Amino acid sequence: MQITHKTISVRTNRRCQMIDITSQVAEVVSESGIQNGTAMVFCPHTTAAITINENADPDVQHDLLLTLEELLPKNRPGYRHCEGNSDAHVKTSLVGTSELVMIQDGRLTLGTWQSVFFCEFDGPRSRTVYIQITGQ
Ligand code: ZN
Repeated sequence: MQITHKTISVRTNRRCQMIDITSQVAEVVSESGIQNGTAMVFCPHTTAAITINENADPDVQHDLLLTLEELLPKNRPGYRHCEGNSDAHVKTSLVGTSELVMIQDGRLTLGTWQSVFFCEFDGPRSRTVYIQITGQ
């Protein structure tokens, strides 16, 4: 059993945005030399998240963000958090801070249309993602 950790940087340029980080995750898998195991992708921020969804049609990303925006408007009466970014905190909890992907024969076992996305909900910012590869 072997474990590898790596930190990658993500620069966002809009308040809400999805960025495909699959190639960075695959690179860490490749560098680790691990053939069979799991890749954990973890976001150590309270207003950003990680998800897996369609990579082929960018309108899917648009529609995901639009839906979250409609469900959780930035200025909702009743929010108390003084930073004014409560919507971003709630979006982060709904989407989640990590994803786990299987590794088989040195490759991520994502579906044909799947990518790993970093989800920014309070950008633009410089962000960090932790990747842990476990296996042999
Ligand atoms: Zn806040």
